[in-house]
Amino acid sequence: MPVPKRKRSRRRRDSRFANKGIQVKAITGCANCSLPLAPHQACSGCGHYKGAKVLVTKEERSAKRAGTRKVRDERKAARQATAEPTSEQQ
Ligand SMILES: [Zn+2]
Repeated sequence: MPVPKRKRSRRRRDSRFANKGIQVKAITGCANCSLPLAPHQACSGCGHYKGAKVLVTKEERSAKRAGTRKVRDERKAARQATAEPTSEQQ
C-alpha cells in the first residue's frame, strides 16, 4: 500500500482551507445607470449614491484634465509666439 514519503507541512495542509470562508457578496444595481454594485456604496460609473451625485468619476476627472491641458497648451503656444520675435532680435 502506498504511503506518503513525508508529512505534509502545516502550511501545505492549511492552504487547502484558505478559501473556505469566502462568501459571494450581495450585488445590487445602480439606480441611476444600473451598473452592478455592492450595496451601500457609491457607483463608480456615474458617481451617484441614493439618487444624489456624491463622487467625481474617472471620466469627469480626465475630461477636466484634458480641458486644463488644452488651456495650458494654448497659453504655451501664445507665449512661444510672443517669445520668438524677441529671441530673433537678440
Ligand atoms: Zn451608476
